[in-house]
Amino acid sequence: MKNKLLLIFLCLIILLAACQPTEPNSPSVENQPTYTPTTIVESPTNIPTVLPEIDSYILDEFPEEQLTIGDPYTPELGNLGYDVQDYQLEIKVDPTYPDQFENQVVISAVSDFPSLEYVSFDFAGFDINDVEVNDEDVDYFRTQYKLLIKLNEPVEEGEEFQVYVNYSGKPDEIPNAFSFSSFVQGAVFPTNDTMAVISEPDGSRRVFPCNDHLLDEAYFSVDIITPPGLMGISNGTLYDTQELDSGETLYRWQSDEVMAPYLLTIAIGNYEVIEYTFDNGLIARNYVLPGTGDSLDSLMGIINEAMTYFEDIFGPYPFDTFGYVINLIEGVSFEAQATIVLAEGMVNEMVAIHEMIHMWLGNWVGLESLQEIWRNEGTTHYFTFLWLYRNDPESLITYFDGIYEDAISRDDLDPLGDLPENNMFGYETYIVGSMMIYKLREEMGDDALLVGFKEYISIYGGGSASDAEFQVVMEDACQCSLDEFFEFWLGP
Ligand SMILES: [Zn+2]
Repeated sequence: MKNKLLLIFLCLIILLAACQPTEPNSPSVENQPTYTPTTIVESPTNIPTVLPEIDSYILDEFPEEQLTIGDPYTPELGNLGYDVQDYQLEIKVDPTYPDQFENQVVISAVSDFPSLEYVSFDFAGFDINDVEVNDEDVDYFRTQYKLLIKLNEPVEEGEEFQVYVNYSGKPDEIPNAFSFSSFVQGAVFPTNDTMAVISEPDGSRRVFPCNDHLLDEAYFSVDIITPPGLMGISNGTLYDTQELDSGETLYRWQSDEVMAPYLLTIAIGNYEVIEYTFDNGLIARNYVLPGTGDSLDSLMGIINEAMTYFEDIFGPYPFDTFGYVINLIEGVSFEAQATIVLAEGMVNEMVAIHEMIHMWLGNWVGLESLQEIWRNEGTTHYFTFLWLYRNDPESLITYFDGIYEDAISRDDLDPLGDLPENNMFGYETYIVGSMMIYKLREEMGDDALLVGFKEYISIYGGGSASDAEFQVVMEDACQCSLDEFFEFWLGP
């Protein structure tokens, strides 16, 4: 019974996380158009509805093979022909007026084509005011989810180029295709004085032009201009704050490690900073809204213990900074890199630890395809429960045996290795994925599993790994073949 209750509670957390209800006071989710995923997810050879005509000849000329990064699971995400090195993003918005952004971005990228003539970025919503490449005006064209640019002159392989885009207005409001919810990703405004950017897996393209796929990691500097009284927060280090003549404040952030665009967050609100020093010397900087600080404060002792516990299992915490930023979005927490977004109602040990584990599993070691999302969420879910039951290993066994019985009794589950894109963040990914790791532990033995994870993080940290590469590391750790095991759980 206890197990069942726990499972229901757990599912609730996940459903809440994955299935954000429409909030009546949230401007960004008002007046949503009818959700029809099939019209949103287009193959790269089937270019979606075009926006107002600007230099439409580019659409006819554009090499279609560049309109995808080549991930067959999500062909509409990412672009080929270049590797982004750095995004310098400036966001200016007053949460009272969420349709009045004034933004710009400079994207520094290196051509990986012998002669790059066209460039595309993932981008939706807003009005574009100006596009320049290397300080010169260029012709461009927009489709529903892409910004297409014709370069004035080809860029040779290995050569760096800079794309400047100035844009303003209102974000895209079409619900995310990669979830069964009606949640609109990107910039979310739960109140008229707070904002958060929630982008897993594809919301970044609704905030800035980018190569919005896991495989193109880059550095980010983010400048946030906020109205009086509100603070702007992003990933990494706040290296400068300036009071502007307009009465607004400029907050300047720099990430210390590369990350995939979806791991960026931007939060705006009446934040207060509360610091906590971990035993490893790292200073956590938590950003809390009025009245939300106490619950997080009371958790930091246990987070400190968990930091030590997981550094022992995974290796050193991989980033220079750490912190939680509380937001008022209901039921959505998210592992933004080193600046974890925690919903006010989810400030509890399970969620805070889950998101912290993602710093190693998901952020430091990324995926090669969203098809492998179980390896982010299932592994993290497993280790969250390993932590919760660290002093009660029998209950851990009872818990996983219980969910195994539940899962095998169900005939409505999607295959873990090939989930429909509207079920990427459901029961299978978290629960079945965690059970797969539990069964892998039975297969390999406790010690070998932990040796395998430490090795996996050591080899692939700072980059990404595939399911096949994960399997090889685990096989090396157990000195056994896991072909049958992986095929059983993930399919051939
Ligand atoms: Zn997660």
